[in-house]
Amino acid sequence: MGLTAVHPERGRLDATAGDLGCAWSWEAIHRARPPADLRCPECGHGLQAKVSPRGLRFFAHLPGALACALAEESMAHHLLKLELATAARDAGGTADLEVSGPNRTWRADVLASARGRRLALEAQLAPITADGIRERTQRMAADGVSSVWFSDRPRPPWLGIVPSVRLAAAEGGLAVVEGLARFAHPTWWPQEPVPLTRFMDWLFSGQVLSHQPRAAMAGTARSLSTVWTTDAHIRAEKSYTDWKEDEKRKAAEKARLREEQRRLFAGLRASHERDEEQRRREEEQEREAENRRRWAREDARFTELAARADHTRLALVRHSARLPGIQRAIARLAQEHRVAVGIGWSVGDSRYACGVPLVSTDGTLLGVFDPLPAASGCAFLRDVGARLLFPAKDRRARFISLLRQDPPMLDYWTGVV
Ligand SMILES: [Zn+2]
Repeated sequence: MGLTAVHPERGRLDATAGDLGCAWSWEAIHRARPPADLRCPECGHGLQAKVSPRGLRFFAHLPGALACALAEESMAHHLLKLELATAARDAGGTADLEVSGPNRTWRADVLASARGRRLALEAQLAPITADGIRERTQRMAADGVSSVWFSDRPRPPWLGIVPSVRLAAAEGGLAVVEGLARFAHPTWWPQEPVPLTRFMDWLFSGQVLSHQPRAAMAGTARSLSTVWTTDAHIRAEKSYTDWKEDEKRKAAEKARLREEQRRLFAGLRASHERDEEQRRREEEQEREAENRRRWAREDARFTELAARADHTRLALVRHSARLPGIQRAIARLAQEHRVAVGIGWSVGDSRYACGVPLVSTDGTLLGVFDPLPAASGCAFLRDVGARLLFPAKDRRARFISLLRQDPPMLDYWTGVV
């Protein structure tokens, strides 16, 4: 069944319009003899004007029609189309039923025009996939026609995928019960039911706009990806979501700064602990070196005093006293320590690395003259901390190159007389 027909002379006939949309009367085509020449606008098959038991006027295909989209449409579909057309007219617009687009790539159930706007009003009762409804919307949009989809089924799964609303019977006719929303900080709320005619008026005046919400829908209401709402609510949502994003950004920045600071402090603490550990190690090493020096000095002094009891060593002492430069070394040490300095009787002890010990009267080792590190090294010389004096620069240089490790305070420790 359909609500429109084509007459060879009168053109398009609309069963929902009082004058059939062409200044003609229903009586002229209903049960007329001979029958009026009515054709289906979709398939061109012959039609017959009929009235349903509840008084709805419509056109039925004559027997023998091939498959036709209009012929297959249900009574419920036609009733909803009629409701949409009536509401559009009541809201001050014009409404044409079953209008095909250029090249017949689409057919609008109701094509409404008002206040310079052209809107396809689609009554969708049969199941349709999300892709299907999106594709049909895009085909109309490509010809500059925006569309609104209507259903009076309880839960159309495609609701909100395209601009759409759900209708339900209410006092005084159909009402929009789902698809309208208002923003109330911080969520969207479903709008109370609105009569279909008033919704139509809002559509024509641009008072409601199709909008894709960013904030959630409150309570148990389905979250629709597209709702109808006013510009004021869209702006309220935007200022709220902008503010919220700004807060999120600020919080993230704060957290980042806190983390950076924490890492910085952790780094400082670790480096401080490392410094402390290093300081403790150095102190420990210093203490150990001090102990070694004290023991080495004690040992050297004891060795010296013991050697003085052995008069056979006198010849060795006298021989050493004639070494070139040794008297200058003795004078230097005497001046530095302000004590009398002489050649130690312990001369020849292997720990002096072939050098000559220079000692004070009480046997304290003050320096070693011209040592030469052998395979045994000169750990004792380093431990005892005595000044090393050389008769010439090349002797000092040879000593340092053979030393293979840096003596402490090289410049003072080793001098040339
Ligand atoms: Zn047809």
